[in-house]
This record gives sequence, structure tokens and C-alpha cells, in this order.
Amino acid sequence: MKIIGLTGGIGSGKSTVARLFAELGVPVIDTDEIAHQLSRPPSEALEQIALEFGTDFIEKEGGLNRSRMRELIFADADAKVKLENIFHPRIKAIVMQQLDKQSPHTPYVLLVVPLLFETNTYSSIIDSSLLVDCSEEHQIERVKLRSGLKNSEITAIIANQLPRKARIQRANDIILNESSLAHLQSSVSTLHQRYQDQTCRFT
Ligand code: ATP
Repeated sequence: MKIIGLTGGIGSGKSTVARLFAELGVPVIDTDEIAHQLSRPPSEALEQIALEFGTDFIEKEGGLNRSRMRELIFADADAKVKLENIFHPRIKAIVMQQLDKQSPHTPYVLLVVPLLFETNTYSSIIDSSLLVDCSEEHQIERVKLRSGLKNSEITAIIANQLPRKARIQRANDIILNESSLAHLQSSVSTLHQRYQDQTCRFT
């Protein structure tokens, strides 16, 4: 079974592409979804956050106060590392469990890792990387439509991620997502055929 690491900047269309692969029957493991599950109570990761950061970062209902945490980790690099040390090992353990559960007849699995190239956590387990790429203008427009974030907040997040050019250089395959959903669907189908037929190697 091959593992394809799906990545891309904020709002590039990773979840949409993952959904299109899932509709073709491809098993999808999404590290962002796992992180969200771990941020919902009851969760041992949240207990650790309360211990290390204080209960101010936990909402009354017991969930993670995301906006407060986002503000902190933007301003404090040590806090960012501390938070990653809470989440990353727990997320990876769940990813490995989910990979183990796959049928031996599955040709390939899609592993969604937004910061695949920024962190090395998954480079040794994936066989090939697939980048969902689009212009910064598209990213801002899509994230604005979907969230309550301001332009300045979105550009700050983009500036914190790997530059577009560096991502393109590292990717084995690229889907350009600047056109219609029908076009995206067709790019996904073409890749699906290839991933089923071909042995991919991560370089
Ligand atoms: P994030 O990094 O923030 O989780 P993402 O990379 O997973 O985002 P999506 O959630 O798939 O991106 O897409 C962001 C928004 O843009 C969604 O509302 C999605 O429906 C929309 N979108 C993505 N691709 C297209 C497209 N080709 N045409 C129109 N809308 C699109």
C-alpha cells in the first residue's frame, strides 16, 4: 500500500481534493481532522494544554480556545513548539493506527498533512507528495468566504507557511486549483488512475 501525502497552503483546496479522492473510494486520513478531534473534550491533549498553558486557553464548555491559542503561538515561538509537542506525537500515533487498519488490498491511501513540507514528521512514511496549489489571491478569497478571519490575519498565516515556490519545488505532483470544481474533479480522476497503476516514490 502506497501513502500519498496531500498538502497545500491554507484555503488551497486540500479538504475539497481529499473529498474528491474519497468519493472515488480512496481511504483518506486527515491530520487536521484528527487535531480537531483531539481539541474536543474530553481529551487528554486538552488536559495537557490546561496544565502547561493554563485554564485560560480552555473554553467554558471544555474545548480549546482557538483564537487565544492562535494569538499566543503567533507571538511566542516557544509556545508554538510546546503546543506542537502536545499535538504532533498524539496525531502521529492515531495516523499509524489508522494506517494499520487499512485493507492489504488497498492500492493507496491519502494522508492529508497541511504542513507536510514545513515539518519532517511524515516524510519518512509517505511514498509521494501531492500539492494543491493556487495563488495567494485565491487563498485569501476562499478563506475569507469560509471563516471570519480578516485579510491581515489570513496573510499572516500565509506568511508563516512555506512560500508557494518552495512548496512547488518539493512536490512530486501538483494540482492547480484555480478553476472550477469540475476541472478539479477531472485532475483528481487522472491522478487516481496513475496512483492505482503506478509505483510512486517519494524523493
Ligand atoms: P484549510 O487549509 O483552511 O483547511 P483547505 O486547503 O482544506 O483549507 P478547502 O476547505 O478545501 O481548503 O477549500 C477552501 C474553500 O474554498 C472551501 O469553502 C471550498 O469549498 C472552496 N473551494 C476550494 N476549491 C474550489 C474551487 N475550485 N472552486 C470553488 N470553490 C473552491
